[in-house]
Formats: sequence, C-alpha cells, structure tokens
Amino acid sequence: MGTIAGIDLGTTFSALARLNEIGRPQIVPNSEGERITPSAVYFDDEEAGAIRVGLEALNCRQLNPERTVRWVKRYMGDSNWKKSIDGREWTPQEISSLILKKLCQDGAIENDPIQDVVISVPAHFDEVRRKATMDAGTLAGLNVIGIVNEPVAAALYYATTQTVNGRVLVYDLGGGTFDVTILDIDGRDMNIVCSQGDHALGGVDFDRKLLEVFEQLYREEYKTELIQSEQDRARYEDEAEDVKKTLSRRPTARRILYGPAGSLRIEITREQYEKAIEPLISRTEILIEVALEEAKSKVGDINQVLLVGGSTRMPVVHKRLTEKFGFAPENAVNVDECVALGAAIHAGLTLLRDEPSKVSAGITAGLRDVKLKDVCNHSYGTICAPMDEETGRPTIRNTILLKKNTPLPCEATQTFYTMAEGQTELQIIVTQGEDEDPEFVNRIATEIFELPPDRPANRPIRVRYSYDVNQRMHCTFLDEDSGRSLEVEFCVGEKGRMKPANVEQTAEELNTYKVQ
Ligand code: AMP
Repeated sequence: MGTIAGIDLGTTFSALARLNEIGRPQIVPNSEGERITPSAVYFDDEEAGAIRVGLEALNCRQLNPERTVRWVKRYMGDSNWKKSIDGREWTPQEISSLILKKLCQDGAIENDPIQDVVISVPAHFDEVRRKATMDAGTLAGLNVIGIVNEPVAAALYYATTQTVNGRVLVYDLGGGTFDVTILDIDGRDMNIVCSQGDHALGGVDFDRKLLEVFEQLYREEYKTELIQSEQDRARYEDEAEDVKKTLSRRPTARRILYGPAGSLRIEITREQYEKAIEPLISRTEILIEVALEEAKSKVGDINQVLLVGGSTRMPVVHKRLTEKFGFAPENAVNVDECVALGAAIHAGLTLLRDEPSKVSAGITAGLRDVKLKDVCNHSYGTICAPMDEETGRPTIRNTILLKKNTPLPCEATQTFYTMAEGQTELQIIVTQGEDEDPEFVNRIATEIFELPPDRPANRPIRVRYSYDVNQRMHCTFLDEDSGRSLEVEFCVGEKGRMKPANVEQTAEELNTYKVQ
C-alpha cells in the first residue's frame, strides 16, 4: 500500500506530512533535516539542468536573484506570469511542481514512494488557481486525490489532537495569504460554516512594510536610495524578515544598513513596526467581521480561536484577537506544520471514501469517527440576458447557480434560452462572485458552445453546475434539442492552457531536470 500524504504548498514555506500505520500524521523532514522547506527555486548556472529547491535556493538568491523564484504561489493561475531562464519560460504551475518534487523525493522511503496526495490551498482560491495547483502536483508525478482548504486542514489537525468544541474561528495568517474560517466542531465532527480571505496579505507584505521603514531611514540620513540593485533588494528583504521575527521576541531590533552612501545604524521598535503594519492587521479584522456576518454570528458566539500560519507568531496578532474576543487564541500546535498534518488526515479520509481498499486497517481505525462537512467557498454563476419585464428588452446580468457556503457536495441546474433565430454560437461565461452586475464578478472561464444551424430563437440550454467534496467545480452546458453538450474546462488562460495532454508532455520534460 502506497504512502498517503498531505502537502502544504505555502507562499514562503512548504511542508509534507504522511499518515503513519495507525492513521496519525507525521511531518517528514527534508534531506537537510528541516521540517519545513522554503518555497524557493534556484536555476543553477554552473550545472546545466540542475534546480535547487529550499534553503540552498534561498541562499543563492542574494548572489543571483535573476535565477531565483520566491513567492510563486502569489502568481498561481496567472497566465501572464512567466519566469524566463536560459530561453525557457517557466509557468507558476511548473515552478510549484519543482517544490512538490523536492518534498516528495525527500519524503520517499525506499520502495515506498509518495503517491496519493492532498494539496492544501487558501480557502478563497478560485477554480483556476485550484486547477493550477492540481496541475502542479500532476507535473511532479503525483496522484492528486484532492484539494483541501488550508484552514480546514488546520482545523482537522486541531480537532483530532486537542480539545476543541463549539463555534470556532480559524485565523490563518501565513507567508502570503490570509484566511478566516468559521466552523462548528463537536469532538471529531466538523461542519464548515464559511470562509473569507485575501490572497495578497501575509508575511511578505509585513516584510515589505519594514523594508519601506529601512528605506525611509536611509533616505532621511543620506538623501540617497538604499536599494540600488536586485541583489540589494534580495538582501534587504531577507534582513527585513529577520528583523520582523526578532520583533516577535524582543521589543527592539538593531541592525546596520550598509548602503551606497555609507553605513547606518538603525534601531526599530516593536511599536514602530506595529504602526507600519497597522493597515494590514486592520484588514484581517475587517475580514473577521465579514465572516461573522456571513455566519450570522456575533463575536460572543465564538468559543475558540485557532491560530494557523507563521505570521500568527507576531504578538500584535495575539493582542488584537484577545481584545476582540475576550479570551486568548489557541496556539497549542505548531502553526507552521498543522496545515500539512491536517492535509494528510484529509488525504486518508478521501481515500477511505473513494478507494477504501487502498487504506490499511490501522489507518482506517485511526480515522474512525472523523467527519468533515465542507462548503462551497464562492458563488458560481453565468452571464445571461433575460428579458426585463419593465422595458421588454434583454438585460445582461450575472445569474448565480451555486451559492456560497452551500454544504458539499452540491449541484444546481437551470435552463436558459438562445436569443436569436439561426444562432449557431453561444458564448459561455462562468462567473465567481456574489453580484448581479457582471462588472463586479470574476470571469473564471469563457468558451464558445457551437449550436446546430437553422433554428428559431428561444431554444433551451440546460446548465448544470456541481461542486464536489474534493473542492472542485464542474459545469456542463447541454443543448436540449440536439443533445450536444460542453463540459467547461478551467484552465490557466489561453496561452498557458494546461490540457491533460500538455500536462503529461510537460511532466516528461520536467523529468529531465535534476531537482535537489
Ligand atoms: P507559513 O506560510 O505559515 O509557513 O508562514 C510563513 C510566514 O511566517 C513568513 O512570512 C515568516 O516570515 C512568518 N514568520 C515565521 N515566524 C515568525 C515570527 N516569529 N514572527 C513573525 N513572522 C514570522
């Protein structure tokens, strides 16, 4: 029986956990002996085809930032983002696959490779980003059996190892993303209520605020810019992260900035830092309010607050959450590891449900009684043009088929009608968002559905949307007269289209690189 594993593919760090023989998740250290691996990739210029991932990549970054990639998760699903190295353009999925490959290579035990995995994603990731994450896993040669939302994975780990009960709020502040999830926990039984988040709010942004403080202090002293090159930027970004971590432990941090006009001794206080990041911390509080409203709950209804993600080590996070809820948040688990550990439990539950013969008796017994009821994280709809009863004219609007926070699995079917006589094409637009106005929703897929010729107007098109328990969306458009149907594919843009054949071909090509 193969190894069942969960992977936290983070913005700054990634981690892999496997289920042991009694169904307990365990972090697998990388070949350097570290339990978490920096999500950094370095394309070696001395050894052709060699790609360094993790700490070594991070160390090489200061010397050669042009050949290094960090924070690629921020670009997941963005078809315009590419990293050009020696004439080859690398997509975010491909770079992420290198990180996954390193984790799984290091985590493999002889004759027992890591195969069936669940990869975690931020709760607010849209369909295109989820698909891109799955593609990254396939490119790394893995069998991705599911995707789990990071706060849900963390809650699974908390609930199976700690005493957590009642209405619980998960505050997940990582390296690049923020999620807040509200769920009900009763022993090992979990029901997700709702999630909110921001995919560009995390540790990297706190580092940048500190970097701005460095630059300001240097400018004031020397009337010269501190950062003159990409190398300088890489160096000071690392310095800022280091200062940030020091300020989590101590009230002040001292450094010397070796800038172009001379060196400058600086002292940054925790107070100064907290002031610089105040707008970002306030944004997390606004998102808590939005989540509470969505859950029809008040602050007083929350029984416990669980912390997830390295950035929750900042004292300001504890202070603000304690002030808001009137009790201290829980930090009994390792906030860097709990997502990977929970993802491994999720992988076990997924296999038990879908392919129980692949799961050993020990793991089956270990996961007995763990129950998880998840919800759909966004509203999904389509753009259509129904007749306005008042004006008698068609009006373009977004019609929602699947509503946010519906328990999974869920599906909805609705019939729409063609507009014109002889219409041979239907432009299909799948949307994500709550608004009726098409301007205020995201278009996550656009396709042309070809229809038979010579037909009158008003022919029925049946649209079926479904969302499965593995957090994936499916859409089918059916022309009822002809029986013709179109299954919408969620791909990363036109240019970076990752159809199954492309994925297989690219996976083979990536195998020619040496990931270390
Ligand atoms: P994660 O993605 O959950 O591993 O979180 C990584 C982020 O947590 C990075 O931005 C780190 O700089 C940040 N982080 C880790 N430890 C600390 C700390 N002691 N104080 C502040 N931020 C931290």
